[in-house]
Amino acid sequence: MSTWTLAYDSFEPEQEGLREALTATGNGYFCSRGTCEWADASDLHYPGTYLHGGFNRATTMMAGRPVVNEDFVNLPNWLVMKLRIEGGPPFALDAVEVLSYRHELDIRACVVSRIIRFRDGDGRETTLEGRRFVSMATPHVAAMEWTITAENWSGRAEITSGLDGRVTNWGVARYRELEGQHLEPIDSRPVDEDSISLLVRTNQSRIEVCQAARTRVYRVGNEVKVARATHQENGYIHQALTLDLKEKTPLRVEKMVAFYTSRDKAISEPRVNAETTVRRLGTFELALEAHTLAWSHLWDTCDVQIPNDDRVQMLLRFHASHILQTCSTHTMDLDAGVPARGLNGEAYRGHIFWDELYIYPYLNFRLPEITRGLLMYRYRRLDEARELAREAGYRGAMYPWQSGSDGSEETQVVHLNPKSGSWDPDLSHHQRHVSAAIFYNIWTYYDASGDIEFLADYGAEMLLEIARFWASIAHFNADRGRYEIHGVMGPDEYHEMLHGSDEHGVRNNAYTNIMVAWIVEIARQVLDILPEDRRAALREMLNLTDDEIQVWTDMSYKMFVPFHGDGVITQFEGYETLEELDWDGYRAKYGNIQRLDRILKAEGDTPDRFKLAKQADTLMLWYLFPEADLEKLFGRLGYPYESAMRDRNINYYYPRTSHGSTLSLIVHADIEREQDPTASWDMFMRALESDVGDIQGGTTKEGIHMGVMAGTLDLIQRGYLGTEIRDGVLCFDPQLTDRLDGLKLRMRFRGTPLDLHLKDGALTVTPRHGGAPTLTVRVRNQEAEVHAGRSQSFRI
Ligand code: BGC
Repeated sequence: MSTWTLAYDSFEPEQEGLREALTATGNGYFCSRGTCEWADASDLHYPGTYLHGGFNRATTMMAGRPVVNEDFVNLPNWLVMKLRIEGGPPFALDAVEVLSYRHELDIRACVVSRIIRFRDGDGRETTLEGRRFVSMATPHVAAMEWTITAENWSGRAEITSGLDGRVTNWGVARYRELEGQHLEPIDSRPVDEDSISLLVRTNQSRIEVCQAARTRVYRVGNEVKVARATHQENGYIHQALTLDLKEKTPLRVEKMVAFYTSRDKAISEPRVNAETTVRRLGTFELALEAHTLAWSHLWDTCDVQIPNDDRVQMLLRFHASHILQTCSTHTMDLDAGVPARGLNGEAYRGHIFWDELYIYPYLNFRLPEITRGLLMYRYRRLDEARELAREAGYRGAMYPWQSGSDGSEETQVVHLNPKSGSWDPDLSHHQRHVSAAIFYNIWTYYDASGDIEFLADYGAEMLLEIARFWASIAHFNADRGRYEIHGVMGPDEYHEMLHGSDEHGVRNNAYTNIMVAWIVEIARQVLDILPEDRRAALREMLNLTDDEIQVWTDMSYKMFVPFHGDGVITQFEGYETLEELDWDGYRAKYGNIQRLDRILKAEGDTPDRFKLAKQADTLMLWYLFPEADLEKLFGRLGYPYESAMRDRNINYYYPRTSHGSTLSLIVHADIEREQDPTASWDMFMRALESDVGDIQGGTTKEGIHMGVMAGTLDLIQRGYLGTEIRDGVLCFDPQLTDRLDGLKLRMRFRGTPLDLHLKDGALTVTPRHGGAPTLTVRVRNQEAEVHAGRSQSFRI
């Protein structure tokens, strides 16, 4: 089994949407689904091309109300290539007899290919071999190659090579009643004899997009001059090429594409640069060479090698390839965040949630500059977050649950219930914990990279404003002598309010309150870390008074944490009064009960009534913090913490969690690694297989799940290898060493690159040249200074 290949050997119509998402190819700037080149959007196929950060708003009138949505725009389809043999109908799989079929993603080079041998109605047998990629070397370039071989005939064929801007956002069935027309055509034209261009604009955000395509034909390495005719219509252009095919003599067609938008830097305007680039482009082979080289450099840094298990190896590489195809160095300057569903589909409209929490740790330890660029997306939207806080009656910065172009809250507040015709509230924007996640992300980026400039220039301002928000949403309950937070939702989205109350959100979500206790303490430390001038300037600018900081200190001692039973943290106040769900009964009745919310609501019931969770909520604490930090946190809060607490809480919440989000699998795999390594590995495998196997039954075709993909890589790194930064020292505490035997990975810690190798019960650490001359490393209880260029082995 190749650990660099994802392949399918037959065409399965009902699987095609999923495979398109999984074999999408991108470079962090733009990405196109792995759709076959000849297909238009239909129930089977969905060619989607997305620009990172490419949003557009549209209004739909629904039941007499205007509903505004910001969409992740499906941009013109540059894939268009159609084949006609001897004037017959355009080639399509259902119009021919398929003799053999292979659809493959080369994970190492991120090249998607299809090889199809078919027989048409007149008995002609033809092999069509297509491959394409979106260049990691040159972000504005994509390239496609078709090799056509007439196996038992000679004659004429026609190829149309087009750019189609008539596309709409149509990829997610449940959004289809919403306005999906985001593009307006501007112009199309021939550029040169062999090139065409198409210019469109998004109709609200006014992003101009130009694609230019050059199509050439080669026989045995030599370019062949062919007859061409250009066809144009509103929003669409193609060239039709006439080919003379000779039996058993392959003919190669190359389509080289340039892609620019008005969001780009260092351009004149999209059309000028797209047309200039397409003229300058070399051959497919040359572009492929540069692309493959760029990927090989990425793999040098990003590969996580597990030689023990080919399936695990393949899926980890597959996940890494998608993380990097969504967020690469080409993303850094784009002013873009991490869309929860990658650039592979339209689910969640390209919005950015809290999932970055699961994604950055993998990037932080190898390509921290990418995290920095992505965090700048949040910094540029700090004013909007301040405004959101102010509008809700708070101070500081409150980031939106769903963020898009300008950082305003993109979460819908009401949804039309098509059955009842009523508008039901959507309370999910009460997931204020997104601001805690952003705080955590900034801090952990700094901790792993040591990037004090970022902290001083941008990070600290966000951290302090987020701390200020939490201090303002909290209030002191004098009876308890504790600070409380009401009206929020935890990561468990199933509880939108306390059953029986009409208050939106819940009171004292334990995860949120404990995060806040940590946040206010770190915010104080941040002030100490900052250079004196910057600290003074920031405090003055933010008007951050001693009294305010005193409140933070007080909160770090007095946040309220609910408990019930023996050391079980109560997910939120009142949870303990809820009813137990008949889990076995529901499993027997429905089989898959991941989406218990939908099941219960369809029964006219509500998840609010029960002790259940969509995903890890309270247990997040053990995922985010080392046990020693939690002990400290609890100690400061004056709550008893004992080592049995983690297991007690796992044992309590695990059977009450439906894992309706795959993020939950990551958390559980991580926190169970010591208590129950077998269960942990099972969870890890479920997480690894979740997108390739589409375990949520139809969600992956609408976009990959970035959080779970990066989460699996981080499970190897922070989970099973036990990577942790303790007081500035890089520590490891390997677990499941049999499974991981042979593990090799490369990391970067505060500017120092290092290699790690786990083999035969020893972890070997080799700091490489180019960083600090020595690095202090701790493996379990053994600490050593390791010199650059030298290896040190630690027995485990
Ligand atoms: C999860 C959220 C997540 C969102 C986007 C939801 O299903 O419950 O935690 O942020 O998907 O991935």
